[in-house]
Amino acid sequence: MAMSERCEQRSRDQHPCFHGKASARWGRIHLPVAPACNIQCNFCNRLYDCVNESRPGVTGRILTPSEALTTLSRLLQQRNDIAVVGIAGPGDPLCDPNRTLETLRAVHAAYPGILLCVSTNGLNLSGYIDQLADTGVTHVTVTVNAVDPYVGQQIYASVTVKQQTYRGLEAARILLGRQEEAVVGLKQRGMTVKINTVVLPGINTGHISAIAAKVAAWEADAMNCIPLIPVHGTPFAELTAPGDVEMAYIRKSVAVYLPQIYHCRRCRADAAGLLGGCAANAQGGSAESGRT
Ligand code: SF4
Ligand code: SF4
Repeated sequence: MAMSERCEQRSRDQHPCFHGKASARWGRIHLPVAPACNIQCNFCNRLYDCVNESRPGVTGRILTPSEALTTLSRLLQQRNDIAVVGIAGPGDPLCDPNRTLETLRAVHAAYPGILLCVSTNGLNLSGYIDQLADTGVTHVTVTVNAVDPYVGQQIYASVTVKQQTYRGLEAARILLGRQEEAVVGLKQRGMTVKINTVVLPGINTGHISAIAAKVAAWEADAMNCIPLIPVHGTPFAELTAPGDVEMAYIRKSVAVYLPQIYHCRRCRADAAGLLGGCAANAQGGSAESGRT
């Protein structure tokens, strides 16, 4: 049987992250082919990787594009419930777009029926929208943690564009402008767009509704408010993670602007299988769903 025959055509509503109903039946695999990042968020430490740790940005190891395809092929021989291949780090998939695009093209050529998804900070996205669409990407997640540069400057330590590194207000302004351009451009290309927002107590908790209103105006399809996981060695390590009650309140209060995601599992960059299950990760180890 040809490889492409092992995965029939998936429909957009089978994406388990974008559609809560699909998450019980359909899974995803993250292929960790993107190690580098072009910004530095004050809550992120990608150096702190551990096979047993379950949170976004963590992977057992980085795969080359060809290793990624091999990993996917093995998984598809074992399971028939994978609807989506996503690239979600552990860095930013478009910091080094060649690795990401090579992987996506290889996957699309081998398995044209599987949905393709990319999760990015949006800094380098707008210039690659056409290439992503041409490789078959239908779903994109853009992480937007502030729509006011005065808030954003507290969240982003640096933003690097064409080897030039920016800090403070200027960095936050550049990132925000590029995120808006990218989301608007994605929607013009017919992509399904989710906005991830990391809820950072004392930093952006009073700003989430402003983010929701703004990204709704950009015509994003859904919003996924994610509670901070404080990580050792980062400037936000001492912040207290928002609790379930606070997250429920925040999601309810911003649902007036656009649909909210309630079932995100904060997955590792190499997660595989159903969102809620304990499944083989991209290296064949064991990892529960744990950044997109
Ligand atoms: Fe980490 Fe993602 Fe922020 Fe880059 S964009 S610093 S990988 S959280
Ligand atoms: Fe889906 Fe959330 Fe996991 Fe990303 S982190 S793959 S949106 S469940």
